[in-house]
Amino acid sequence: MMIFLKKKILYSACFFILTLLLLCSSVPQIYADADRVSSDDSGFFSYRRFLLDTKSIDAMSATSGTGRDLKKFVKDLTDGVYLISGGQNEKAREKFFAARKLWPEYFGTDFLIAMAYEGSGDIDTAARFYKSYLIKLRDFHNGKNRISAPIIRFLSRGEIERYSPAEKLVEGHLADLGVQLSAVRPAPVTANLLVYFVVLLLLIAGYLAITYVLVPRLKRRRRRKLVPEGFWLCEHCGVLSPELSNVCVECRKPRL
Ligand SMILES: [Zn+2]
Repeated sequence: MMIFLKKKILYSACFFILTLLLLCSSVPQIYADADRVSSDDSGFFSYRRFLLDTKSIDAMSATSGTGRDLKKFVKDLTDGVYLISGGQNEKAREKFFAARKLWPEYFGTDFLIAMAYEGSGDIDTAARFYKSYLIKLRDFHNGKNRISAPIIRFLSRGEIERYSPAEKLVEGHLADLGVQLSAVRPAPVTANLLVYFVVLLLLIAGYLAITYVLVPRLKRRRRRKLVPEGFWLCEHCGVLSPELSNVCVECRKPRL
């Protein structure tokens, strides 16, 4: 009875944790505040910065897989920029998310997604994408993306912004909107979330294996060592029976 209860509690705990995680990661942002308008006119918060060099992409081979993906990426991003310039923030976001899926390392896409959320008045989600933009920009300057970095330079028309000024501008911009940058969680990357889930499942599996396989086995082994002369230990209920009896005195099951 005790073991059954413990199992039930454990299973409900696992279920609860998993449900909570799912909710945290997928609940849509419900905050909307359409009255807020960006007061920044420095040119930094402009989608124009991210119009990519389409001439260089046209020169690229479309037959290779990478070339095709890159062309698709540039098309999605450019389409998104046109949509956002026409105030169609929601449609623009769809394009930007498609581009982000193809090439997650490119920081500009996260910036544009942030702008599109801000345009719709969803400041909290916008802040998360501004944050992930900054993280990706820092990774870019730190040389973390050895393969992507040359392509980003190749596609960018103007000079790529440095990290510290970009961080200051974003921080100030968010402060104007009433958000503190240091308190913002970055937007999740799908792949990372998946890894997180797998790790969690492995941890739960490990916990279950230890509690229900390893610990009982060790307990049984220790009990077996403590069995006095002339007795045997029942594998089912753990009660001692005399050697004379071939069935357990407690549960009547035969000796194994
Ligand atoms: Zn027994």
